[in-house]
Order: sequence, then structure tokens, then C-alpha cells
Amino acid sequence: MPPTPPDEALIAGEWRRGAGTASVTVDPATGQPLATVHGVTVEEVAEAAEAAARAAADPRWRELLPHQRARLLTRIAELIDDGAEHLAALQTADTGKSINETRALVASAAGTFRYTAAALETAEESITPARGAYLTMSVYEPIGVVGAINPWNSPVASDAQKLAPALAGGNAVLLKPAEWTPLVSLALGRMVSRALDELGLPAALLAVLPGRGSVIGDAIVRDPRVGKVTFTGGTSTGRTLAHAAADKLMPVSLELGGKSPTVVLADADVEQALAGVMFGVFSSSGQSCIAGSRLFVARELYDDFVGELVERVRKLRVGPGTDPATQVAPLVHHKHRDSVAAYVDLARSEGARVRCGGTVPEGEAYADGAYYLPTVLDGLSNDARVCQEEIFGPVLVALPFDDEDDLVDRANDSVYGLACGIWTRDHRAAWRIGRRIDAGTVWINTYKQFSISTPFGGTKDSGLGREKGRDGIRAYQRQKSLYWGTSAAPLPWAN
Ligand code: NAD
Repeated sequence: MPPTPPDEALIAGEWRRGAGTASVTVDPATGQPLATVHGVTVEEVAEAAEAAARAAADPRWRELLPHQRARLLTRIAELIDDGAEHLAALQTADTGKSINETRALVASAAGTFRYTAAALETAEESITPARGAYLTMSVYEPIGVVGAINPWNSPVASDAQKLAPALAGGNAVLLKPAEWTPLVSLALGRMVSRALDELGLPAALLAVLPGRGSVIGDAIVRDPRVGKVTFTGGTSTGRTLAHAAADKLMPVSLELGGKSPTVVLADADVEQALAGVMFGVFSSSGQSCIAGSRLFVARELYDDFVGELVERVRKLRVGPGTDPATQVAPLVHHKHRDSVAAYVDLARSEGARVRCGGTVPEGEAYADGAYYLPTVLDGLSNDARVCQEEIFGPVLVALPFDDEDDLVDRANDSVYGLACGIWTRDHRAAWRIGRRIDAGTVWINTYKQFSISTPFGGTKDSGLGREKGRDGIRAYQRQKSLYWGTSAAPLPWAN
């Protein structure tokens, strides 16, 4: 349990209990309650937005130079490092994820703040070629107040991915965690509060506002003081949010769902591909937007490859996230586990063969947790609903392919376009297929590797805009052009 009261939100620079509806967060490994968190109200969102707008305009913040703003990010990174074990344990308790994974996510969150601080210090504005008696400059300015809305699967990493560039851009942020997993965002918020206090910066530069998405998230999106929303979550929520943003003519970044193909060509290094395919879909228990959940295998290799894969998947260690030996931890919530189970039942009704898994694990140790066995399905066509819809759980659908055109057609036959994996020794084939696949990220002979220095985002229903990379900060700024007259002569009309 966190050492600070979990039932306090950060509203207008003040930690206090939200006046909205209480909800209980549950440890998905045990079904036991972890903490009660009172959500905020719509009125408190307005209060936070007003304070955030004032904080963003406060000269103590607005007048900082980039290298001075970078100090805040560096300090937050240090505080994350100092509290790393606490954050990792909290995220494991709240999301169920394995402790190895949450430790890595916390380290990546600190790295995100450090990288963004470095990017901020070294970002350049430009003098553009003059086309008259003037000097032209292109500069970047803060938007003001940014709304950041996140899902439940990797709160510490997704919070850092939004907070770091939004603060670097000179903004104030209203952060809305997911209903099922508010604890990590609240703990991270404490660290940001502390860093703001130490550096003498306005406390309201960050608000952490738990509550129902359709009420509190919606109030953030519609608030007139909010000038940009950055959202990670499901595609239908993203679409709703984009409609609301369109009414305000407000920019949005959307990181949405996926149904990513992972492709094994006939010449692949089979050992490497087996390990990569399993990691790509079953790590995080499949609760990952980039999960490689559709497996395409060259027909001549298909039976051997899928047969061996199934043998190995049966041996994956399913257990609580607190056990470092666990490979497949419980799902985030019992309701979500039931939704995954319903998809596997749907697959059965669509004629799938369940090659392994397809049920909850047996035994006392699993009785109260939101567990589901890693599952491999085949015997379906790519049109089946389980091949087209995001399950967001430990479920892989395997499909054979005959040639490159057939593969590319079916891999691209999806509303999503987030990621793709290609396993082959043939670099020319990897190049051709990698360029033909509609996806924001393509991994070749690796999968689910992430780097803050490399832009990330989706195409089609997987999203809009890119996060990360040196230009990640620019998504939280407005570009302004300055023309400086260099001639003393009057403009022509003066004559
Ligand atoms: P979700 O869309 O239900 O919720 C995401 C967030 O939006 C939550 O904080 C929720 O409270 C809020 N929300 C809900 N309705 C809202 C509304 N009307 N207005 C404003 N905010 C609202 O998603 P989820 O179930 O929490 O997360 C799973 C989804 O997230 C999956 O589809 C997954 O693919 C996606 N995801 C995408 C990425 C990516 O980077 N592309 C990463 C992780 C998760």
C-alpha cells in the first residue's frame, strides 16, 4: 500500500479527497480491495482547469528558458528512481502485471523524463530563408493547458510519455487515470508535486483527476481552457473524444487499439521466432496495444511451427505478478478476464480450434484472481471476429499464408494499423513487406522493443499523431512565425 493517502486527488495544486463518486480498486491477483479512491466532480475539473491556466501563465513558469524547464524533468526522473520499487509494487498490485515488467516500466518512465529533458535543452528553433526585407523565424510556444487521458494497462509509462513532453513544452497538465488503476498516477503525481515545490514552481501545473471517463474525461476534453488533449485508450473512446475536440477545433493525439500481425517467413530462425512470437503476444498477458495477436506463418512451416509454439505456450508460467518467475500474470480486472473469455467462446462458435488454453487455470492459487490461460487458436479465416477485433488478452490466432501478396493483403485487411513483426533471414523480403504493411511500427527479427527516442503511433483506427522522439515535445506546442523588418524604407503603400 502506498505510504501517502491514496484517496486524495491533486486539484488546483492541492491534495484533497475528490468530492465525486468513490470506487474501490482491486488487486486482480487476489480479488482483494486495495484502496478506495474518490473521483473528482465536474466542478472540480473546472476548478483544476482554471488553476492550471493560471499556473501555465505564471511568470515563474512561463518565463523559464528551455534548459531551466528541463531541470524540473530531471528532478522528476530522480524522484522516480528513488521511489522505483514503490511505484513498481504499486503498479503490480493495481494492474496485476508482473513485477519484472513493472520495474522495467518504472525505469522507462524515469528514462522518458531524462530523454525529454535532454531533447528540450537541445531543441532548436529556426531562421527560415528570407524572401524580402525581413528576417523570418519559426518559434514554438506552449499551448497552455493540456488534458492527458490514459488507459489502465501501463499507467506509469503512459503517464510519463504524456507528462514529460507536455511539461517540457511549457504547459500545465490535467492528468486523468483510468478508473481501474488510479494509484500509480496518484503516486507519480506526488513526485511531480514535490519537484514543483522544491523548484518554487506553481503547484497547479499538474492536476491528477480520477473519475469516470464519460464524465470526468469528457469534462476535461470539453473545458474551454484545455487547448489540447492527448489520449491513449480504445478506438471507440478515441473517436468520441475526437468529435468533441472537433467542436472546439482543438488538436488531439490519439494512441488507440491494434490487432497487429506477426509474420514468420519460411526461412526464419525458428528458435528466435518462437520466442519472439510468444513474448510479442503473451507478455503483459496480451494487454498491450501492440500485442502481435495475429500470427501469419508460411504454409510450408505452419504445422511444425504452430505445433512447437503450442507446446511451449503450455509451459509458460502463469502466476501472480509479485512472483518474479511469473510470465503470464492475471488480467487487470475480473470483468476484463470475462470479456477475454467471451471472445474465446465466440471463436469456438466461429469454428476455431483451441490449440491450447481457452479457459481459466485450475487450482486453489488461481481461484480468486483474474487469470486466463495463454491461448492459441487456429482454423479460422482472417474475416473471423477474433481476427478483426482487439481482444486485449492472452489470445493468439494463427493463420497460414501462401505467398507475399496473399500475406500483405490479409495482414493489411484490418481496421487497425499499429504494429507488425517480421521474422526472416531475408533482408530484402523484410524490407519489401515492412514497407507494404500499414502500421506505425514494424519490428524485424524482434518485437515489442520500445525506445523513447523513436516516434510511436498508429495509422487507420490505431490513432492519430506520434508520441516520443525528439519532436515529441513539438506536439505540445504551437508554432509561431516572426517577421523582423530589416529595411528602414517604408512599405510600398506608404508611397
Ligand atoms: P478506454 O478507451 O475505455 O479508456 C481510456 C481512458 O479514457 C480512461 O481513462 C477512461 O476513463 C477515459 N474515457 C472513457 N470514456 C471517455 C470519454 N467519453 N471522454 C474522455 N475520456 C474517456 O480504454 P481502456 O479500456 O482503459 O484501455 C484499453 C484500450 O487502450 C485498448 O483498446 C488498447 O489498445 C488501448 N491502448 C492503446 C495504446 C497505444 O499506445 N496505442 C496503449 C495502451 C492501450
